[in-house]
Order: sequence, then C-alpha cells, then structure tokens
Amino acid sequence: MLIQLISLFPEVFPGVFNSSMLFKAQDVKAVEFKYINLRDYGKGPRQQVDDTPYGGGDGMLLMVDPLVRAIEDAKKTDPKALVILPTPRGSSYKQSDAKSLAAEGNGLIIICPRYEGYDERVTNWVDRQYSIGNYVLTGGEIPAMVMVDSIVRLLPGVLGGETSAAIESFQDDDKTIEYPQYTRPESFRGLDVPEVLLSGHHAQIEAWRSSKRRIKNKT
Ligand code: SAM
Repeated sequence: MLIQLISLFPEVFPGVFNSSMLFKAQDVKAVEFKYINLRDYGKGPRQQVDDTPYGGGDGMLLMVDPLVRAIEDAKKTDPKALVILPTPRGSSYKQSDAKSLAAEGNGLIIICPRYEGYDERVTNWVDRQYSIGNYVLTGGEIPAMVMVDSIVRLLPGVLGGETSAAIESFQDDDKTIEYPQYTRPESFRGLDVPEVLLSGHHAQIEAWRSSKRRIKNKT
C-alpha cells in the first residue's frame, strides 16, 4: 500500500512511521510512505498556500489551488488512491474504517490541513472525510498518523500473531473492548492477579474474559 501524505510539516512523520510496527511494515514492504510538501505547490515568490476567509473571521485557510494541484500530482503516482481528509466535519473514524481501508488495500492520499482549515471546495477532490474525536487539534498530521497506524497494522504480514488483530478491542461492533490483562508478578503491592487466570482452566478463563469484555462508555 502506497500512502502519500500532503503536509506543510512532513518532517513530523518519520519519527512515528520509522519505529516499531510501522517500521516493520515498511521493512516487509507492506507499506510505502511518500511525503508531499504542500509548500512546493504554493503561489508566487513566497510560495503562499493560505489566505484569509471570505466573509471575515480569524485565521487563515489553506487555498484550494495548491491543495488540488498536490492531490493531482499524487494521483499521477497512484491513480486509484483514495483521497482522505481529516476534519472535525467528517464522520467519526472507527476500527471498522481501519479494517475496510486495510482490506480494500487501495493506496491512500491523506491531506493534512493546518491553521483554521481549508477552502471547502477541496472536498470535491476528496473521497472520505474523518474526524478522530470531538476535540480540535492544530493540524491534520496527528489524525493522519492515527489513521495510518490503525490501518497499516492490519495489513497482511504486519502483526506478529495472525490472530492478534482478531481478538482486539472494537473488532465486532466498534464498541466492545478487550478484557483486562495481567503479567508477572502475581502480586504487586497487595494487588493480586485474578485467581482464575492462574488456574490453568481454559473454559473458566474464557468465561471470565467474556464477562469482563464490556461496551465502551458503559460503566
Ligand atoms: N477551524 C477548525 C474548526 O473549528 O473545526 C479547526 C481547524 S484545526 C486547527 C486544523 C486542521 O486540523 C483541521 O482542518 C483538520 O484537518 C485537523 N483537525 C483538527 N482536529 C481534528 C479532528 N478532531 N479530527 C480530524 N482532523 C482534525
């Protein structure tokens, strides 16, 4: 899967993408990243990429022209790629979206807006818009990292145990979370591992684990 990231700050990605699972994913050629600096598509001698909003208001917006030319260039590299825009206006990004994007296996072009956002007309070049939560971040880079991480770990050959993704949180309905887990020592400052987990009785362990799975946001 080729993932192309359009950003004014492409230097923020390699630290996250070149570590751990995402490093391994590149190593086994499950994914390749390409960073596109939006500044290269800026207008005039100062390579301007932003301007003030029509109708007034604070801050600056990314202009449609540099964004669209950057998307068009990325499409030349990968014509079938899906264009994704992280935005608070988008639908809530869920594990089921990560699963379907990983399963579809298309390349991705992820736009990372900054400042007060972007000229809405760019959405004519966008396939999917996602919000990663009800809070405002400074730019689209962190949402892009969240989506990339959640998709790439599901690509074939990336996770170690073939079943490990299948038993994780949010697998069935985006709501059910995994049971609590423990490792050595058996007792830590008076806090003991639940006895059933030490029993070696697989059926009882399974029953305990299913009783501890729960629906997110229900206490
Ligand atoms: N003025 C915008 C608003 O009030 O909705 C916020 C702009 S934010 C400072 C800059 C960019 O960061 C957004 O255009 C979007 O691309 C990204 N962003 C911020 N929060 C996000 C979120 N919760 N989900 C997805 N993208 C987000």
